[in-house]
Amino acid sequence: MKRRDFLKAAGTGALVASSATTVSARENLPVPEDAVGMLYDATLCIGCRACVVKCKEINGAPPETVEGEEHWDMAQELSADTLTIIQAFNADTGPDIPNLADGTFSFSKRQCMHCVDPGCVTVCPVSAMQKHPTTGIVSHDPDVCIGCRYCVLACPYNVPKYEYDETFGQIQKCQLCNQPGVERIDNGQITGCTEVCPTGANIFGPRKELLAEAKRRAELKEGDTYTYPLQSIDSTYRYETQVKADYQQHIFGEKEGGGTQVLVVAGTPITNLGLPELPERSYAANSETVQHTIYGGMLAPAGLLAGLLYLARRNTKGDDKDE
Ligand code: SF4
Ligand code: SF4
Ligand code: SF4
Repeated sequence: MKRRDFLKAAGTGALVASSATTVSARENLPVPEDAVGMLYDATLCIGCRACVVKCKEINGAPPETVEGEEHWDMAQELSADTLTIIQAFNADTGPDIPNLADGTFSFSKRQCMHCVDPGCVTVCPVSAMQKHPTTGIVSHDPDVCIGCRYCVLACPYNVPKYEYDETFGQIQKCQLCNQPGVERIDNGQITGCTEVCPTGANIFGPRKELLAEAKRRAELKEGDTYTYPLQSIDSTYRYETQVKADYQQHIFGEKEGGGTQVLVVAGTPITNLGLPELPERSYAANSETVQHTIYGGMLAPAGLLAGLLYLARRNTKGDDKDE
C-alpha cells in the first residue's frame, strides 16, 4: 500500500470512527440541477487516444517522455502536463500487465471525475477549488491557490497534480474544458475529448441524461443492435451497431463517493479498470461531520490542523513520485 493510500485509509477510518460521537452528521451534497458531465463507455473505446492529444492541445501542455521518447498520447499516469489518460487493463484480473494479445482487455479513461461532493473542495483552505453551483464543474483558481496540496490528499481518484518542476508550482487537473481562456461549456461547446472521440465512447451532456443513457445500456446484451450517439447525448450524429459485450450492471459514478459527474460503463467489472471501490458516503461528508464534531467538543483543533499540515507536507511530494 502506498503511503498516500495508507493515509487516506487511516484518515477515513478515523473519521468514520469519530463520527460515532457526531452531534449532526452532514449528508452527501445533492447533484446540481443542471449538472453536466461525460459518459465513458469502455465497450466502445478503441484506444486511439485522440482524446488525450486534444486535451493537451486545449490545455497547451507539452508531450511526456515515455521510455526515453517524447509522446503526446502514451502517458500511463496523470500528471501536471497530462490531464487525461487512456490505459489498457486485463479485463479479468484488473490492473496487472494487460494481455492485449488474447483480447481479454479493456481500455479505461481517467481524468477528474467532477465529484458531486468533492473532497478537494472541502479541504481547500482558501477556496481555490470550487464546485460551480449549477453546472457542478469543479474548477481550480491558480491565483488563489497557496500550494498546500490538501486537495491532492483528499481526492479518492488521485487526480490533482502539483507542478514540482516549477519554482512556483501549481495544481493542475481537468476543469471540463471550462477554465478561464477556454470556457467551452460556457460558450455552448462540448468538451474537447468528447468532440474528437470517433466512436462515441466518450460523450458529453447533462448528468441526468447521461445516467439515463447508461441505464439503457446496462440492459443491453452482446449482439443486440443499438444506436449510439457521437460527441454528445443530444447529437444528431448517431450510428447503429452491434453491442460488443454484455454490459455490467454497474454504472460507476452513480453512487460512488457521493456520485460523480463523469460516469463509466463497461463490459468488464469496472473495479478491474483502475477505478477505486468507494462507499456511497462521500469523504467530504465524513470529514465535515468530524470537523464539526471536533470543533463542537473543543478538542484541540489547532493541534489537529498542525498535525495534518505536517503530514501533508512530509508525504505529498514523495507520494506523487511513487506513482
Ligand atoms: S476527482 Fe478528485 S479532483 Fe476531481 S472533483 Fe473529485 S475529489 Fe476533486
Ligand atoms: S474535459 Fe477537457 S480538460 Fe477534461 S479531460 Fe476532456 S479535454 Fe481534457
Ligand atoms: S478518443 Fe474515444 S475511442 Fe479514442 S481513446 Fe479516447 S475515448 Fe477511446
